[in-house]
Amino acid sequence: MVMDIRAQLSMSFNLDKCIGCHTCSISCKNIWTTRQGAEYMWWNNVETKPGAGYPLTWEDQERYRGGWEVSDGNLRLKLIKGNKLRTLASIFFQPNLPTIDDYYEPFTYDYQNLFNAPAGDDQPVARPKSLITGEFMEKINLGPNWDDDFGGSPLYASNDPNLKGLSDSQKEMLTKFHKLFYFYVPRICNHCLNPACVASCPSGAIYKRGEDGIVLIDQDTCRAWRFCVSACPYKKPYYNWATGKSEKCIFCYPRTETGQPNACAHSCVGRIRTVGVILYDAERIEETAKLPDDKLVDGMRDIILDPFDPKVIEAAKKAGIDENWIAAAQNSPAYNLFKKWRISLPHHPEFRTVPMNFYVPPLSPILHQAKADRGGTFDPESTGFFNEIDKMRIPVKFLANLMSAGNERVVVESLKKQMAVRIYWRRKRVGDISESEVKKALDQTGLTLQDVEDIYRLNSLATYKERFVISETHRESKTTVDPRMMYEKRGTIGFGAKKKEFIGRQW
Ligand code: SF4
Ligand code: SF4
Repeated sequence: MVMDIRAQLSMSFNLDKCIGCHTCSISCKNIWTTRQGAEYMWWNNVETKPGAGYPLTWEDQERYRGGWEVSDGNLRLKLIKGNKLRTLASIFFQPNLPTIDDYYEPFTYDYQNLFNAPAGDDQPVARPKSLITGEFMEKINLGPNWDDDFGGSPLYASNDPNLKGLSDSQKEMLTKFHKLFYFYVPRICNHCLNPACVASCPSGAIYKRGEDGIVLIDQDTCRAWRFCVSACPYKKPYYNWATGKSEKCIFCYPRTETGQPNACAHSCVGRIRTVGVILYDAERIEETAKLPDDKLVDGMRDIILDPFDPKVIEAAKKAGIDENWIAAAQNSPAYNLFKKWRISLPHHPEFRTVPMNFYVPPLSPILHQAKADRGGTFDPESTGFFNEIDKMRIPVKFLANLMSAGNERVVVESLKKQMAVRIYWRRKRVGDISESEVKKALDQTGLTLQDVEDIYRLNSLATYKERFVISETHRESKTTVDPRMMYEKRGTIGFGAKKKEFIGRQW
């Protein structure tokens, strides 16, 4: 078995615990994007689901053409239509780029007027002022959290691309005003294994670091073609109109290199985030990204290696991965949630970038249809837990559209496991569930008692050191992998592609 082992830092989000407070977004903004040209950028943002998101309807790849598709057995960027030369000819005009109206025109308020307005009969007001033109704005039409908590209108929610395939009554359960139900999805760059941003850049300015998998944009090399903005299906690179360069989430590498968690994760009020190391086999990225939709999540689990397997440890050491990184991988919350317990899921794996952040899908109250017809109330008497998953307020189909390329089986597996943990703890704390019910739950989900204890601990009680298992980066013992190996700057525009570059440059 030939293995090309790499280490990757990965963040996991427990969506049941996100309270939509946006503290994460503010921490990130304060550190990285309080600069001219970066006002509209939210490297970390939190979206209400269902909702149109930021930029608007970013998940709709019919419109934005981000990510990859499999064509004649090959992976190709959706963005590249016809041959590369034709695409190159359109380098100065990309119809699929989001416009500032899809984000929002950044603005401030004319606060000085509150202090300096001359005495008069009217109360002075602080009018909104564009941060781009400096002109007063008549009306603000959009902001980064415009549809937060539905913003008083289900209109945005009903434009959510993930509602595709849901029945009218399922849609109504999520979006109809007096019945609505929503949850939050915090987002950062996924630091993907098959990053479309890297592959699309004509200047070769974007690269994925060999030592920790963080994807960065070299500001000296960036020539502002903005292909990364178009190609990233998550819309996580942003164009800075003041510097003329693109920028993106850097996974707080100055913090992670010294063993500290990212600012968003550290500041998270709900403690929904964990950060850990995973080891993966880079030889298998291409085959994973090409898998059919219903096999993508399982394929992504396969590519992640068991950090306790002696063969993996040996190969990792040979590849120059430091002992403390291997130890971190063995205690990794990301590994446990995604691979060991199979609870967390990737965000839109069908974009085929093989994203490396994972989400624990939220449980939601169970509705009995009879009661739903009378206004839809949560039924605490509900029993027969596993049979009720299809009656949850958030339809499984919606979660599957969001996190498993439509594969409902893996979503149900995750929800059942989370329910099994609750059943176990309800018996322990409240005592109104029989032991046989608990045994049935564990048997059906394949969880051991130790798993249940560990899942509960990680999700509820974990300390700082358990949530963030990040090893310092040892510059002195660099991996044998050139940090830019698969993503290195090779060739010139249009003609330089060599084998293996499917994963790197498309030019
Ligand atoms: S393609 Fe992946 S790595 Fe690149 S910016 Fe988008 S989310 Fe980040
Ligand atoms: S800080 Fe945590 S709880 Fe608050 S919105 Fe961000 S991810 Fe959610």
